[in-house]
Amino acid sequence: MASPSRLLASRALRGLSLLGGEKAPGRFFNTENHDTVRLETSSAKTLMDIGTRRIFSSDHDIFRQSVRKFFQEAVVPYHAEWEKAGQVSRELWEKAGQQGLLGVNISEECGGIGGDILSAAITWEEQMYVNCTGPGFSLHSDIVMPYIANYGSKEQIERFIPEMAAGKCIGAIAMTEPGAGSDLQGVRTFAKKDGSDWILNGSKVFITNGWLSDLVIVVAMTNREARSPAHGISLFLVENGMKGFVKGRKLEKIGLKAQDTAELFFEDVRLPASALLGQENKGFYYLMAELPQERLLIADMAIASCEFMFEETRNYVKQRKAFGKTIAHLQTVQHKLAELKTQICVGRAFLDSCLQLHSAKHLDSATASMAKYWASDLQNSVATQCVQLHGGWGYMWEYPIAKSFVDSRVQPIYGGTNEIMKELIAREIVSDK
Ligand SMILES: Cc1cc2nc3c(=O)[nH]c(=O)nc-3n(C[C@H](O)[C@H](O)[C@H](O)COP(=O)(O)OP(=O)(O)OC[C@H]3O[C@@H](n4cnc5c(N)ncnc54)[C@H](O)[C@@H]3O)c2cc1C
Repeated sequence: MASPSRLLASRALRGLSLLGGEKAPGRFFNTENHDTVRLETSSAKTLMDIGTRRIFSSDHDIFRQSVRKFFQEAVVPYHAEWEKAGQVSRELWEKAGQQGLLGVNISEECGGIGGDILSAAITWEEQMYVNCTGPGFSLHSDIVMPYIANYGSKEQIERFIPEMAAGKCIGAIAMTEPGAGSDLQGVRTFAKKDGSDWILNGSKVFITNGWLSDLVIVVAMTNREARSPAHGISLFLVENGMKGFVKGRKLEKIGLKAQDTAELFFEDVRLPASALLGQENKGFYYLMAELPQERLLIADMAIASCEFMFEETRNYVKQRKAFGKTIAHLQTVQHKLAELKTQICVGRAFLDSCLQLHSAKHLDSATASMAKYWASDLQNSVATQCVQLHGGWGYMWEYPIAKSFVDSRVQPIYGGTNEIMKELIAREIVSDK
């Protein structure tokens, strides 16, 4: 009899032909690695080859193939249109849900897909390999959904997780405020008890998926008298359509053009007791526990973006002619490519080790911070150098590398700035504990 993982992987394979709207059975689990030899990216033909990297198995490869096909068919042809609109379509979310690509790492018992974190990483990486940053899937699936699965009540889990996995309920998380970003303890949004209800007032800014969101996890103060703000913060589930919940502007950004980033306002929003996520005044601890995964996904997407940019540039220099031959013949260009490939492969090795650690639930906050800071800085350095190798065409929007360049810029800023990452790494280094 086939093992459950094999069976599920073969279903994922069948999912390859399910883009036409048919409901995909594609549930995908972690798998044992049955392969004996898998190349690392440094020895593979390209940095995006399917079938490489020791951390994955052949079952993961089958899943990757289906995810790749999804992004190429359901996202790439429409992305330019979404960049103009400043958002992707709701239809795309439902297609991704049908394909089993949302909540991949959320357990089946909770209503998710039941795959391992490596399968989730495949969805992050494949999105970067098509250079389409519009769909806010990773934030929805691997940042927002885990809060509900890990801290939600049975009712909250049953109500939201299946809908989110189906792409019918789009999630966002609202921490940042106009006056509080890095200093999360400075949030002013306040929820006041009124009988068993809460009355929420305040505003949030820079919220990914904010415009399309159906459900927002809102970080709010609930006890201003607590011994420190960290002891007085709670999380709330705020739904689109609640009276007093107003979506502001879709913010105009220099990159991530197809991703909807919005301001949100809460004006005397009455929330029932059931809107509190987890325990009162425990919100800050939940945030600290979940942030390493957010940093890991930013880092993995950063390295995947580097891999994409490298291949894009390798192809370009091999066909661009100057002084009678392709610029790939110039030694300075060759050395630059050698440096880039080496740096990216070194980064990939660290990231794969972090993915493995996280898979075993051993990724600590400082290591996740190292990955986030180092990989996102590398992404920006690679982007700058790859644009340079494209010459003037690298500055033109019609060239994918131009889009990668502007999209890279935010990575050292969100998810905790890289300066804050260094604070977290340093704190651990000098700690006497
Ligand atoms: C496109 C985009 C999407 C985003 N999505 C979300 C989202 O979905 N949800 C959400 O809640 N937020 C989101 N954010 C907000 C993001 O997390 C914040 O912008 C980020 O945390 C930085 O906060 P800030 O902008 O207030 O900068 P500030 O905190 O004002 O920082 C300004 C500068 O000061 C530095 N600085 C601050 N404190 C220190 C310190 N102690 N030591 C050293 N340097 C310091 C920073 O590193 C930075 O360089 C998003 C932002 C962007 C741009």
